[in-house]
Amino acid sequence: MSEPVEKILQKVDLGKEDLITLIRLGLDESRLLFETAWKAKQASVGNTVYFRGLIEYSNRCTKNCYYCGIRRHNTRYKRYRLTDLEVIEAANYAYRNQFGSIVIQSGENSDRQFIETIEHLLWEINRLTNHALHITLSLGEQNEKTYRRWFEAGAHRYLLRIETSNPQLYRKLHPSDYRHVYERRLEALQTLRSIGYQTGTGVMIGLPFQTTEDLANDLLFFHTVDIDMVGMGPYIEHAETPLYHYRDQFLPLRERLELSLKMVAILRILMPDINIAATTAMQTIDPHGRERALLAGANVMMPNLTPARYKQSYLLYNDKPGIEDDAEESKEAMEENIRLTGHVIGFGEYGDSAHFLRRTKEEGRRTRDEGRGR
Ligand code: SAH
Ligand code: SF4
Repeated sequence: MSEPVEKILQKVDLGKEDLITLIRLGLDESRLLFETAWKAKQASVGNTVYFRGLIEYSNRCTKNCYYCGIRRHNTRYKRYRLTDLEVIEAANYAYRNQFGSIVIQSGENSDRQFIETIEHLLWEINRLTNHALHITLSLGEQNEKTYRRWFEAGAHRYLLRIETSNPQLYRKLHPSDYRHVYERRLEALQTLRSIGYQTGTGVMIGLPFQTTEDLANDLLFFHTVDIDMVGMGPYIEHAETPLYHYRDQFLPLRERLELSLKMVAILRILMPDINIAATTAMQTIDPHGRERALLAGANVMMPNLTPARYKQSYLLYNDKPGIEDDAEESKEAMEENIRLTGHVIGFGEYGDSAHFLRRTKEEGRRTRDEGRGR
């Protein structure tokens, strides 16, 4: 018999069994979990929601992840890469609207032109916006030299989801070749952190073959690697991917969403001062999925700023919402919905991870003390 929820939620340290109990909570019992997470959020990061304007830079990808709609072997989508001007315009939109932050995301590419263009864009965006935006990159695995170049060109944060912290499950979700190696992804995360990025990771929730223990381990993984930000959300099938063959084993979409919301809430309690995103995949299952994620403990939203004509071609999964919207419309609707949940929007603020700011301050203090021979 596991302990009562009330007791678990009062603990200072949550162990794996506690996490499993919390992940398994039914709808009624999870109310207390959400209340506790809400309090933890108010006490640590408050009720401000930070915007990151999302720019889906390119759907060209050298990888073939079994779950992803834009994998290399899917010939359905016309492949695109935004022009420099299109990226600058999207960044400028974020600047004019005081988003404080953008995310540049893309399929994985490591050719010279790609690396240099991103580097150039980073300099340009920082120059043109007078450093009013903090920039997150989500461009997959790269070598240390590239990560360093982009950091020096003015990127602040990097988001690289581990996808699952279970190496065996990771291997089931990816081809077994040198491009898809769990250990390399893990190493990339460590490299990013050592360079000085605010480092983010995340997982997909409700994957076929994934167990509750896997999800508990994912939460422990975030804690162990001392991550600064997390973007996690439900796995959503894409009919033109190999994983779709296992559709008879998928959890119902609603359950994947409920699981994701509980994961957000537990993570907020486990790591109160990190940034947690309310992800688009949640909105795919429920039009109010992201607002529900805010109420569960998330504090970051990513309005999509990709030019409308490309959105149809950046479909990682089926039924991705908002592909018809223009930026202005979706932003207004989003703002209104956020206010209705009792949050304020951190316009003009970078919204850096409080966890990152704290840990780098502590690291700096330690280094200074060591320098003084203390
Ligand atoms: N290529 C980069 C960034 C773009 S993909 C990378 O892979 O890191 C960004 C994220 O989309 C991935 O990390 C994955 O977690 C998520 N994703 C891909 N396919 C998905 C699906 N079918 N359902 C839910 N999330 C998915
Ligand atoms: Fe490419 Fe990322 Fe999709 Fe994998 S998840 S196929 S790396 S875009």
